[in-house]
Amino acid sequence: MKAAFFKEHGGSDKILYGDYRDPVPEAGEVTVRVRACALNQVDMLLLDGRFPPPEGLPHVNGCEVTGTIEALGAGAKGLAIGQRVVIFPGLSCSSCEYCLRGERTVCVRYGYLGAHKDGGYAELVKAPAANILPLPESIAFEAGAALPMAMLTAWHALVHQARVRPGQTVLVQAAGSGVGSAAIQIARLAGARVLTTVGSDDKIELARALGAERVVNYRTQDFVEEAKRWTEKRGVDIVIEHIGGDTFERSTHALTRLGTLVSIGSHDTHWGRLDLRHVYSKNLRILGTNLGSILELRTILDHVADGRLRPVIDRVFRLPEARAAVQHVLDRKNKGKVLLVP
Ligand SMILES: [Zn+2]
Repeated sequence: MKAAFFKEHGGSDKILYGDYRDPVPEAGEVTVRVRACALNQVDMLLLDGRFPPPEGLPHVNGCEVTGTIEALGAGAKGLAIGQRVVIFPGLSCSSCEYCLRGERTVCVRYGYLGAHKDGGYAELVKAPAANILPLPESIAFEAGAALPMAMLTAWHALVHQARVRPGQTVLVQAAGSGVGSAAIQIARLAGARVLTTVGSDDKIELARALGAERVVNYRTQDFVEEAKRWTEKRGVDIVIEHIGGDTFERSTHALTRLGTLVSIGSHDTHWGRLDLRHVYSKNLRILGTNLGSILELRTILDHVADGRLRPVIDRVFRLPEARAAVQHVLDRKNKGKVLLVP
């Protein structure tokens, strides 16, 4: 098959396009013919070596994949060749303490499609049959590929971890990102009000269209001051944070008493400082989260099929143009998800 892969760490220039070993489904696995694969921030960490692929190089990125079933391994039941599907990217062992508790995202042997295994920047990809969900006819392959990581992570962060409620105020960092554009919509669906940040004025219109009440350009305005002004000095109930560094620390300053910050990524840096006085005196909750459950992904598919949530797609590149697609994301030019199609 053809794939976009890398043999050494670095920038987008390390992405190669060419022949790559075909995936062969083992027992309980299926091979999917990729119809669309979304780029994700985790791809950038895998590429530059901040999160080197656990199984070594060469490696194929791509954790958000839709396609059709190409081949079934032994014992893969309930699926048909040619069926339209979306792949749930979380890989878990089913037997550790946390899997048995039903908390598979903290499995001691946890992995991601496209990180711990080769992913979807390719014509074919394999995955456990248990990770396959049917993709409703009303959801295009491109839209479906924008859901499994970005929309699911935002859903789990807001609904499961932060327990968002109607009328609450939510600060969503980076409206132009996949996870940010998803979080704005999910907060609105839950009846909450949203203030969001953008890095350039051309993203303000998108943020408003998604349902944000207040949009702050973080390069020219102080988002903590704006959050205080928006809430009449009170502070927001929830922050969805995925930048790290100063943004992480300052996000805690935007919270009201008993507020919740959910950390769902570290786009700029893995490090963040905290003024602990804010944490204990305001009884703040600082929570981590990664991905969500396959049931939550099925719930999201229902909302997207019925038009209550819509993935934001910035641009679609052909697979041979993977290098340009990665550079587009690294340059932060995207408003929403960037996709590859073979
Ligand atoms: Zn486990």
